[in-house]
Amino acid sequence: ETELDVFRAARPASHAEWERAERHMPDGVPMLWMAKWPGPWPVYVESASGAHFTCVDGIDHVDLCLGDTGAMCGHAPAASVAAISAQLARGSTFMLPTEDAAAVAEIMSSRFRVPVWQFSLSATDANRSLIRYARQVTRRPRILVHDYSYHGTVDEAYATLDEHGNVVARRGNIGAPVPLDQTTSVVQFNDVDALERALATREIAAVLIEPALTNIGIVLPEPGYHEAVRELCSRYGTILIIDETHTFSAGPGGMIAELGLEPDAVVLGKSIGGGIPAGAYGMTREFADRVRDSLDLEDIDVGGVGGTLAGNALSLAGIRATLSEVLTPAAFTGMIDRSTEWTAGVQAAIDEFEVPWQVTQLGARSEYSFRATAPRTGREAADADDFELQQYLHLHALNRGLLMTPFHNMALMSPATTAADVERHTVAFREAVVSLYG
Ligand code: PLP
Repeated sequence: ETELDVFRAARPASHAEWERAERHMPDGVPMLWMAKWPGPWPVYVESASGAHFTCVDGIDHVDLCLGDTGAMCGHAPAASVAAISAQLARGSTFMLPTEDAAAVAEIMSSRFRVPVWQFSLSATDANRSLIRYARQVTRRPRILVHDYSYHGTVDEAYATLDEHGNVVARRGNIGAPVPLDQTTSVVQFNDVDALERALATREIAAVLIEPALTNIGIVLPEPGYHEAVRELCSRYGTILIIDETHTFSAGPGGMIAELGLEPDAVVLGKSIGGGIPAGAYGMTREFADRVRDSLDLEDIDVGGVGGTLAGNALSLAGIRATLSEVLTPAAFTGMIDRSTEWTAGVQAAIDEFEVPWQVTQLGARSEYSFRATAPRTGREAADADDFELQQYLHLHALNRGLLMTPFHNMALMSPATTAADVERHTVAFREAVVSLYG
């Protein structure tokens, strides 16, 4: 009996949902990525709480994917649900602020080291807005990203280097509006010299960077890299945007607080709203003043940034409750402990069978990769990708009630994840390694 047979036999109700959904949605899902699972059809969710969800087939799962970080707060955290429900009952969209606005901006400022905040519906929107602001104040055309970084479906950020070193749209950047070599420069992570060459052209409005790459496995910054990025951005007049969307896993103030980074602007999203759409972007006072000075506020037709539902009362109620009562400093301590246990468990199986893989932990998030040493660049990490192997391991896990993220070998811990949840996966992971190499 293969893992595919096991999946098919266990999930008839999901199959029925899928057959119905397929008539009106490509691949039977409301958003394309939901079809990227290892099984022959997606698992349809019945309900979720904390670190677990139950599918329509009645199977309980430990959720190590947590909505690809969108639910790092755990599913339906009580404080967030209460605050969001109460706000929903009082109205959610006014194009006017509520009392939560100031409180949320204060919380964001105290955690992420910049004092001026705006809100959006997603991290993608936040990145788009900051890129516009950076172009507005610098009057420069280009942005710089790192190879194999991901910053959302932002046209010009979803770029890579081809084998000749030319900037091209990443595979999957569907219908990119202009050739990306006109909008974007790309360098390898941790390559200070390449970064300096790019910034010295003085054409780069913004460096958009994750503190560690997290969308091609985890690639950590080498000592001094962020200091060099900061220094070079200042020297060449480039706005430094730090995208903490995933690296928020490092602690209550993300890697910005952990490493004492000094961005001009910061992006957050995914789990901050407690499970509902919410994004945020922060700026230094200096950058925010430059933006303000560059705009004609008398005659402002603000169309390039913002949106009808951005910063709505529901998102702000969700962020306030989630950051003050769910993703607290104490919760991070527990999440990081669970992640350390997971990392040790996975490492133990790798060591026991001398498999040439390695594990990298980033706070509450940890990920194995199919190479013997930690990658230094996105390119090195990408070269170790093995889609079939990943699909096998994910399907093996899913058949044992354990959900991994389709695009990552990643396990993410929520405040609700227990040591027993972690062990359920590390035991299954060892079993999978035995099935492959035992
Ligand atoms: N930034 C980073 C670092 C991300 O990993 C992602 C999504 O994975 C985004 C931004 C975009 O987030 P969203 O799809 O919620 O807009």
